[in-house]
Amino acid sequence: MKSLEFSEPAAAIALADLRKTYPGGTVALHGIDLSVAPGEFFGLLGPNGAGKSTLIGIICSLVNKSAGSVHVMGYDADRQREAVKACIGVVPQEFNFNNFERVGHIVETQAGYYGLDPTLARERTRKYLDRLGLWHKRDERARTLSGGMKRRLMIARALVHEPPVLILDEPTAGVDIELRRSMWDFLRELNGAGTTIVLTTHYLEEAEALCRRVAMINHGRLVADAPVGELLQELRWETFVLTVDAVPDPLPAIDPCMLRPGASAEEVELDLPRGTDLTDVFAALKQAGMQVLSLRNKANRLEEFFVKRVEAQRDGVH
Ligand code: ADP
Repeated sequence: MKSLEFSEPAAAIALADLRKTYPGGTVALHGIDLSVAPGEFFGLLGPNGAGKSTLIGIICSLVNKSAGSVHVMGYDADRQREAVKACIGVVPQEFNFNNFERVGHIVETQAGYYGLDPTLARERTRKYLDRLGLWHKRDERARTLSGGMKRRLMIARALVHEPPVLILDEPTAGVDIELRRSMWDFLRELNGAGTTIVLTTHYLEEAEALCRRVAMINHGRLVADAPVGELLQELRWETFVLTVDAVPDPLPAIDPCMLRPGASAEEVELDLPRGTDLTDVFAALKQAGMQVLSLRNKANRLEEFFVKRVEAQRDGVH
């Protein structure tokens, strides 16, 4: 394959008025305009059914769009489909390799699809299986891998042609916390070396930890597109549910929090500004005669954020 020129496109991904209506009439995308800068770590957030997978599918030429345009690294997906494909590594949500194939073979075959010569294909297979901690599994059949390993195999396979853009659909769904963190480290390193990364996620923490910019999509429309810090500032308060050994009546005033009775006799709800040091709050509660036995975040902050955004949009405040 001819080597492609990736020199300084204005955007790694540029979508203009992207629309999708599925046969049967479901409108999954209502006209999305979005630009992802080269080198960006970009998060695409949204509830189930929002249109994220459709959007990714269209960028990767896996789903046909109904209207609009897609450019990747300056290439037009309609006219330069092969070049666009070569620019992208994609990690879909579902494992879509042959479970009976051997791990090394899966990655090497993919390299072949992209026209890498056999020596380079072997080198790259080793490089990425090694980086993802799977080299020792190269001769095993894929079905013997754990879920987390299968996810990493998908990433190795997506990277074997060293694309400038990596797209991951829910990369850490169902992955345990420890593995999630090591995957974050890996993605950060890759992004640090220049790969543009786009991921979809349900976890606000993931977007917060990784992404510099975040777009939110709801019912096929963008409801936000901004630096992650800017969006999170809108979530000024967090609510926790605390289980305590005793609930004094009346509840004490603890600056800068707000306390109110919870759903059961042992629970109180605590509103506090994001980023408040909980150790200080716990100490103040203890002084007021309340020992905290457990705590949990009351709402999924991302869901909460969506509700606020969508309401604001509906009320015309946006
Ligand atoms: P998300 O990835 O955010 O969960 P999707 O892109 O999968 O959202 O789905 C967006 C909407 O399009 C949903 O209403 C979904 O039911 C619909 N949809 C997705 N894929 C298809 C399909 N192949 N045929 C018909 N409708 C679909």
